[in-house]
Amino acid sequence: KEKNRKGYVPLYNRFEQFYSRYVYRRIRDCWNRPICSVPGAEVVLKDRITNDYGWTFEYTGLEKKCLNLGSYNYLGFAEASGPCAEESIESIKKYACSLCSTRHELGTSPIHLELEETTARFLGVEAAITFGMGFATNALNLPCILSPGCLVISDEKNHASLILGLRLSGATIRVFKHNNMKDLEKVLRNAVVQGQPKTHVPWKKILIVAEGVYSMEGSIVHLPEVIALKKKYKAYLFLDEAHSVGAMGPRGRGVVDYFGVNPHDVDVLMGTFTKSFGSAGGYIAGSKELVDYFRVNSHAACYASSMSPPVAQQIITSMRIIMGEDGTHEGQKRVMQLARNTRYFRRRLHQMGVIIYGNEDSPVVPLLVYMFSKIGAVVRTLVSKKIAAVGVGFPATPLMEGRIRFCLSAAHTKEQLDNVLDILEDIAERLGLKYSQLPRYKG
Ligand code: PMP
Repeated sequence: KEKNRKGYVPLYNRFEQFYSRYVYRRIRDCWNRPICSVPGAEVVLKDRITNDYGWTFEYTGLEKKCLNLGSYNYLGFAEASGPCAEESIESIKKYACSLCSTRHELGTSPIHLELEETTARFLGVEAAITFGMGFATNALNLPCILSPGCLVISDEKNHASLILGLRLSGATIRVFKHNNMKDLEKVLRNAVVQGQPKTHVPWKKILIVAEGVYSMEGSIVHLPEVIALKKKYKAYLFLDEAHSVGAMGPRGRGVVDYFGVNPHDVDVLMGTFTKSFGSAGGYIAGSKELVDYFRVNSHAACYASSMSPPVAQQIITSMRIIMGEDGTHEGQKRVMQLARNTRYFRRRLHQMGVIIYGNEDSPVVPLLVYMFSKIGAVVRTLVSKKIAAVGVGFPATPLMEGRIRFCLSAAHTKEQLDNVLDILEDIAERLGLKYSQLPRYKG
């Protein structure tokens, strides 16, 4: 192993260092921009100037109001006024920001109990348990139901929090091609023959792990097929609905609602509150037995402080609005508006001739720019035209599949989307993003 001058093995590997120090540093003004407003349909960015070809930068003190297609505010509930904000403020007055304790100790308030009851009702299952962080909900709860000797069959595009949880569990991990049902069946068939373990070391259990809407691909899981396969091969299913709960389905209840499948057919329903509910945290939902098991066995439930009360209140209020329990049709309107915005934006991008990934109903819209160098060029041009979107490259995507990710919101108006699309048309033409402009390789 290579050692440095002081005799140490380097703390991180050189390939990552190459990207973080030499490549991303040059275009780091494209990420981590502080924002000075709520992440609504518009967002105010702190402006930066970059000196010395990107090696250093400073804030100009100016603020730039941009159209926001970068936040996961799918239903527009990230608002500083309105019922969600008002009820959260009331909860701060009563409980302040933190209960300074874990759920098992002094960290459970009536708000937490109400949140779990509301979440279970919203999802149509028996029970739910909530956690202060979505990432930790995956990373710390998967090891709770898996151990060495278990087999996990994981979609190749699963989120980092799922991968971390699976690795921590010590289970055997096999990966199937993204959203490819034939490949999933092949992996299942190799592991199991007619419900019996094939190898002499039987798997303790088999768990399929998939997402509702994939955050980098914009694709939607083929849920009915996955459920049919898990039943055929007597496996379990863990479904991460981070990007789909609230955003998908006629009633906004996620991909389970979108496909009209029975929620009880998904063994472990997981999701986050960071997106459609304009809040923070995560949940695990399913049978009462499963939730009780997590309540006593999960490190995230036993050793982490409970969710901040105003954060929990924001979720309860927004969830009730989606369910129509506030006595209005506001929630339903937002769910339908998001679906309309999504289809319109995607249709216009298709007409423009650029390459986008994902399903026509997915509010996550990745526009392919391929070459790494174009990520910075497109993000910078968009910001100069007052549009905020997220550039994504290696290692979140394959090296040569750089993309710009747009997230739609019910808060966007048609005029705002038209404005973005007009600017994108011009950028696509100038930076060669259209399919007809891409280089063709022979052979
Ligand atoms: N799961 C998926 C699929 C995600 O995309 C994310 C983050 N975007 C998480 C889990 C983690 O959630 P959070 O950001 O709420 O911690």
